Amino acid sequence: MRIPIIAGNWKMHKTVEETKNFWDTVKNWQKPSGVEAVICAPFTALPALADAARNSEIGVGAQNVHWEREGAFTGEISPVMLKQLGVGYCIIGHSERRAYFAETDEAVNKKAKALFDVDIVPIVCVGEQLEERENDETKKVVKRQVTQALDGLRSRDVKRLVVAYEPVWAIGTGKTATAEDANDVIAYIRKVIADLYDQQVANEVRIQYGGSVKPDNVERFMAQPDIDGALVGGASLDPASFRALVEGG
Ligand code: PEP
Repeated sequence: MRIPIIAGNWKMHKTVEETKNFWDTVKNWQKPSGVEAVICAPFTALPALADAARNSEIGVGAQNVHWEREGAFTGEISPVMLKQLGVGYCIIGHSERRAYFAETDEAVNKKAKALFDVDIVPIVCVGEQLEERENDETKKVVKRQVTQALDGLRSRDVKRLVVAYEPVWAIGTGKTATAEDANDVIAYIRKVIADLYDQQVANEVRIQYGGSVKPDNVERFMAQPDIDGALVGGASLDPASFRALVEGG
């Protein structure tokens, strides 16, 4: 039985003060049981968010990490640094990082391994560009991304990770895949994982859909058998909307 996970990706939004205001609005909310809720905040907001959320039912995630523990990597943040703040999740391979910061499948793989070394759960983003979808290459692309991201990972780690299937053309555009199309690709990703590991591992991995998910469409995706939650950008910024997303998950 996979527990669905709704993760907000704040991207480069919210100062420390705005983060505290968000928290004040959600802190007395009773999260429904049977669904996990996570907020992935920018680095500067993580200390305030992690402190506030410490004994709560809301998990805290980062949006990027370097794979080394420490060293001459100006501007980077290591897995240990995140761990010491109380971070439990970290998005890796987001399409914006792949497009604007040249994040490769190889880097995603190194980051996944480094995160597991400190017991942080990676949220591995995969997904095709519009042109790739139009050329009928969606499955080829996600197979390559998943296979390379998981290369060398132990099955006990793979069972714990989260994959986010995010068609790039659906991110921040207001366009979504149909729930059936998203489920079809996600079921395929599960098959790729079954072929790489075994069916039991594949049955345990949680695979989210992401791309213009909102409170008024989240339930449509959640009703699909292979979709285990959502990674949500824009609609996670407003506390009422975030709560509604989790309640719909
Ligand atoms: C995202 O940032 O991962 C995302 C899916 O964004 P949005 O929900 O705004 O499309």
